[in-house]
Amino acid sequence: MITKLDGIIISKYPYRERDLIVRLLLRNGKKASVIFYGGKGGGSKKKSSILELGFLVEVELQKSREDSEIFTAKEWVLKWHHDNIRNNYQAYCLLCFFSEISERLALEAQFKNYESEISSSDKEAGPFRVLSNALVYLEKSLSAREQNALFLPYGQILIFITKFAVEMGVFPASDTCTLCGGDLEAIGPKILSAEHGGYQCGRCTDIGQDSGDEAIYQAMMRIARTPYQAILPLPLGAVDLSMAKKVLHYVCYQFNIIPETLKTMRAVLAN
Ligand SMILES: [Zn+2]
Repeated sequence: MITKLDGIIISKYPYRERDLIVRLLLRNGKKASVIFYGGKGGGSKKKSSILELGFLVEVELQKSREDSEIFTAKEWVLKWHHDNIRNNYQAYCLLCFFSEISERLALEAQFKNYESEISSSDKEAGPFRVLSNALVYLEKSLSAREQNALFLPYGQILIFITKFAVEMGVFPASDTCTLCGGDLEAIGPKILSAEHGGYQCGRCTDIGQDSGDEAIYQAMMRIARTPYQAILPLPLGAVDLSMAKKVLHYVCYQFNIIPETLKTMRAVLAN
């Protein structure tokens, strides 16, 4: 059986001399491992590889064997690629970070249910939508016209993680305090608590003199309400390292992931 589907390359590993094992994030939001024979390029025809991290490919898949855990790519074509991201080290680190989070959080495509995975693969779902939007956004933020003015790494991390939280159903409850149920808008300073899955008001937690996580609250609310394509004008220059880290910690906690185990985290969220 052969079927075509789209996937974003979220990781790849050399396999034998000329082949690659690629992890694809499929349009249905699930991840799948695929062997690309000759995927490294080269060979007698000196074919160049189009299988780079963050590229979107359409793949004609073949299930190797009934009991196989892995698909084989029969044919593949490039559908979207980035240029600016590849040429900017910091942006490339962001790409790696977004890819790693997607790989950690996406569910595995179930090979037992091969037919249903394929038939659902044209409907765009959660993680795929977030990652594809994030990469288009990142590429655009580095375009000559924008002159890197919109390349704000901490802002992009905050957008990506917030959108992921929305899609995966772990966006923090934003109307009431998770402890007392009080109205958050009315109460004033609040802090984001990963352990309690939402915000806590100043009556329940000692916030002290500072404004708590007001900036995070406002930014997450605006990002959640705004489609990715319209986020560019948002004032994200104020997003700093500690805000990005706190929101990452929040989302990781909901999925039992220790942020420090993300291999790419240090490259984008170093002190
Ligand atoms: Zn409270």
